[in-house]
Amino acid sequence: MNIHEYQGKALLRSYGVPVPRGDVAFTPEEAETVARSLGGDLYVVKAQIHAGGRGKAGGVKLAKSPEEVRALASQMIGQTLVTHQTGPSGKIVRRVLIEEGTAIAKEFYIGLVVDRVSGRVVMMASSEGGVEIEEVAKTSPEKIVKVTIDPVLGLMPYQARQLAFAIGIPAHLVSQAVRFMLGLYQVFVEKDASVAEINPLVLTTDDRIVALDAKFNFDHNALFRHPDLMELRDLDEEDPKETEASKYDLSYIALDGNIGCMVNGAGLAMATMDIIKFYGGEPANFLDVGGGASREKVTAAFKIILADEKVEGIFVNIFGGIMRCDVIAEGIIAAARDVGIDRPLVVRLEGTNVELGKKLLDASGLDIVSADSMADGAEKIVSLVRERRGQK
Ligand code: GDP
Ligand code: MN
Repeated sequence: MNIHEYQGKALLRSYGVPVPRGDVAFTPEEAETVARSLGGDLYVVKAQIHAGGRGKAGGVKLAKSPEEVRALASQMIGQTLVTHQTGPSGKIVRRVLIEEGTAIAKEFYIGLVVDRVSGRVVMMASSEGGVEIEEVAKTSPEKIVKVTIDPVLGLMPYQARQLAFAIGIPAHLVSQAVRFMLGLYQVFVEKDASVAEINPLVLTTDDRIVALDAKFNFDHNALFRHPDLMELRDLDEEDPKETEASKYDLSYIALDGNIGCMVNGAGLAMATMDIIKFYGGEPANFLDVGGGASREKVTAAFKIILADEKVEGIFVNIFGGIMRCDVIAEGIIAAARDVGIDRPLVVRLEGTNVELGKKLLDASGLDIVSADSMADGAEKIVSLVRERRGQK
């Protein structure tokens, strides 16, 4: 789960990690009020969307007065911001962060990720802050330094010092940078984050180390023990189809293709997407309905798949292991009747009571194409979708 920059900064602040003073605003009026309460003669207005690259796209603007803050906020709020991370359709800005302006002497980069190879948290730092770290990794990988953190010991001060010196933090500010890194690591671990990225971490002209940006991602599987984080979820930033799916405990990820998939088991779902591609199609989604695919779940899944206008056909690929195929067939039939399926539907069933399941599908009178294997099903749905296109 992602959160907004202003929420990430509030979290850092609560752990004593320095961030600029500021507050969120939902309207231009609120933006002006926040600016007035901050005081000073330089402000920053920052679009709050779950994507980076805002600076280059006009989503980060400096202002010299609360009136100017209000004017900039009224331009930003309601606008669609397109950055290299939002995709071409962009994201609508609904909130802005108003901050005191920071006088920057130098920009750095600090990031924490869970490294799958070592199975440990790795802290990365770079002297090249404020630019895309992926770009730095490509063009000058030697400018990214890393330490692997022992989960028992945690980030050791000597490791933080190593990083600070390696990226060129001036000697008299190293202890400040070390405190910053230790605090960031503590947030990361205690909140079960999977990514934390401070880009840029800045050295100010008055010798302070401050997080000017904050990006967090939290492990979805650990959210149950962080009700405080769960409250930070912003549904406007999520795909409504994915939100709906989460209500029914369905693992659904929207993709760009045109063949909707309904599968039980994550591995089978991955293999189904592969085989659709193998036969020249493009999956419209990943969907694992889980082991106990009840009629309600199957119906909800159909509705979500059909709500996607890009979907031109559906491939149901279910292996009935613990689940019996006849029960699944009943679920599919009930759902198909309930929702009314207006696009080609191919069903491949395998496992316990498969014959009975197929009989039920045949007898339903519904326009369901039955498949004998995964390959057969994938081939059939791809060609049915092609035919349908040809007819149009
Ligand atoms: P991103 O582009 O979405 O990653 O947004 P950032 O929060 O990283 O801001 C982009 C850039 O705006 C930063 O790298 C800074 O150069 C600049 N910026 C942000 N806040 C301030 C500020 O308070 N003062 C100054 N001078 N520049 C800022
Ligand atoms: Mn940034």
